[in-house]
Order: sequence, then structure tokens, then C-alpha cells
Amino acid sequence: MATEPVRCARCGEEIPAERREVLPDTRVCVGCSRDMGGEFRVVVIPERTSKDGSLKKNYGGYTTRKVRKPIPPKE
Ligand SMILES: [Zn+2]
Repeated sequence: MATEPVRCARCGEEIPAERREVLPDTRVCVGCSRDMGGEFRVVVIPERTSKDGSLKKNYGGYTTRKVRKPIPPKE
């Protein structure tokens, strides 16, 4: 089962399969990711389990979400 090569959204280099295995939703190669200081930003979202209007703050936990940074053009 051959898969289409995935190319870096920034420099056009093919993203190695090993990298895509670790980061399936990556769009840039290792070099560009490093240039950008990381492709993703991780935001922490507190889970609110209390009802709206309740004074009691009841946080059940946190979920983290990866936010893709805008990909800057290569110089
Ligand atoms: Zn690249």
C-alpha cells in the first residue's frame, strides 16, 4: 500500500515517513519546524463541569489542544 509523499508546506521537501508516524498531522519538515520554534502551540483548556451561573467552581480537569501555528514563508 503506497502512500502519497507528503511535502513540507514551507520548503517543499518530502516529509519522512518516520516523522509522519510520530506526528501524523504535521505539515512541515523537521528543519522548518525547528525554524518556527515548533509547529504547534499547546493550549490548556480547563474542563468546566459546573453548570452556568453556579458559584461553585468545579474544574474536572484539563484538556490540551494542539494549535497549528501559521507557517511563515521560507526566506
Ligand atoms: Zn521544510
